[in-house]
Amino acid sequence: MRLVCFPPPQLSSNGFSLLSLSSPFRSAFSVASVLDPFPLFSRVILSQAMEADIQFMQEALAEARAAATAGEVPIGAVLIHKGKILSRSGNRTIRDNDPTAHSEMVVLREAARHLGNYRLADTTLYVTIEPCSMCAGAIIQARVPRLVYGADDPKGGAVRSCFEILSHPCLNHHVEITAGILAADCTSILQSFFAERR
Ligand code: ZN
Repeated sequence: MRLVCFPPPQLSSNGFSLLSLSSPFRSAFSVASVLDPFPLFSRVILSQAMEADIQFMQEALAEARAAATAGEVPIGAVLIHKGKILSRSGNRTIRDNDPTAHSEMVVLREAARHLGNYRLADTTLYVTIEPCSMCAGAIIQARVPRLVYGADDPKGGAVRSCFEILSHPCLNHHVEITAGILAADCTSILQSFFAERR
């Protein structure tokens, strides 16, 4: 597993004060500075990739907001295939009376139907919150090559917070992972949703 984190968690020893800033663009800037002795060049490469990640995460956030409006826990996901959105959804567990209807599961099912294949090659899954163990399992079953998520879930995240399912050494399938894209936005939607219900 290759885990890319924005901002990267353990770079403070190098004294990059930019890491403490919340803007994802500034985070990319600082990652580039750390990874490459030619920061200007790396900055261009990273910011192009980041731009796409941010754009698709904003689409996932739109799904999360729509889920909140429908009374669902506001988590959203989109699945990208060859640069285009193939499927998109928020959580649907309450509406569908379906404990498996997390946003990731819904978009994986829909995408597989579209493609006529349960193996989702050439796709990237964007989700606002770190996937749970069920969704991590589905990502492996579908052979999704890349996962991008927003905020960590300390109460059930199965990428790195509570379990590290996607990087288990027994697995043959390796998922490229990018974490922390628009993390503050992804968390604040959840927090305001639950605050309103207290
Ligand atoms: Zn899940």
